[in-house]
Amino acid sequence: MNTSGRGSFSRFAQGMRRLLLGTVLAAGCTAAARAATVPLPQLGAGPVEMRVAYAINPRLPRMDAAQLATLLDAMRDAVREHFGVELRFAPVKEVPLAALFATIPARRSAQALKESYDFKSGRADRAALDRAFAQGFRDSRESLAEMIAFAQPHTGPVAADFDDLGRKVAALQLARVQQWAQRKALDGGPAIDGQPFNEFPMWLALGFGELPYELVLTNQLIAGVEYTFPAVHTAIRGGYSNGITSYGRQSRFGTFSVWSTYAFTAGDDQIVALRGGERYTPQEAARLAGISGAHEIGHQLFHFTHPFGQPACLMSPVPMFGYRAWAEKLSAKDCPIGSSPAMTPGAYRFDY
Ligand SMILES: [Zn+2]
Repeated sequence: MNTSGRGSFSRFAQGMRRLLLGTVLAAGCTAAARAATVPLPQLGAGPVEMRVAYAINPRLPRMDAAQLATLLDAMRDAVREHFGVELRFAPVKEVPLAALFATIPARRSAQALKESYDFKSGRADRAALDRAFAQGFRDSRESLAEMIAFAQPHTGPVAADFDDLGRKVAALQLARVQQWAQRKALDGGPAIDGQPFNEFPMWLALGFGELPYELVLTNQLIAGVEYTFPAVHTAIRGGYSNGITSYGRQSRFGTFSVWSTYAFTAGDDQIVALRGGERYTPQEAARLAGISGAHEIGHQLFHFTHPFGQPACLMSPVPMFGYRAWAEKLSAKDCPIGSSPAMTPGAYRFDY
């Protein structure tokens, strides 16, 4: 598992292979049938065309057509500048999010819901979550000492064992997901309701359904707590994901990218505080959403991972929500393709 993916806003589908192996091995399938790897896309000299959806939850704020045009222009420019590829976008298809989720195969959807911790009802098995986090950290092959060092400023002291780390990081994520659960929708009800639209595993499951897009923009707030693949970086954001790149059965390149406009359209004090004080006009919000969304295109077309600590790189994750400060540090000439292992095409294996 490449835990670097969980260390950013864009939790791409790292570890999917082991997840599925676990599921499928129990059913006794053969090795040949249970896993495959998405080949690295072969890009020709011409423009790369992407089919784009804007998946709308009508209960949440959205970008208008002018903002979407600005977003896609900014994404196209950033991809050209940083990755040397010319993107072409098909006209954006606006689709109800519910209709998109309805295409997820029932088996996948059931599995995704099993992986999601039900923080909405308060009836979920908390001890099982603690154990799952501890096991996930054990399996991550990340340094225990480094994970503890990263967690402690947020969790308080952690003993030098996976069980304590699991327990405390689970508690942190559960506490912080409440900041999302308490946000209101346009109708005054909770932004995260009984629908599974906020659940990260459901978005991964979407790629196994009928999804004829390479890029799915959405106004959905994606935040939750999962039994699978815990990460300290994810926990401190309350399980919030701005972007995801994952296996897409119908995608031209074998994976599809999700990019949420939710954190860009919101302008309330809570979000502004998470941005380190940044306030955006609708125009700047759209432009920053496009530049930062280009990061997912790097995952999709080149299978890059994350060059942590290299702020010149578009593939370097945004630490929290301060997109303006992040974008100001970008410099394509200081982060060419091949300049680090993370920036080498094929650095990540999308197994499914
Ligand atoms: Zn990423």
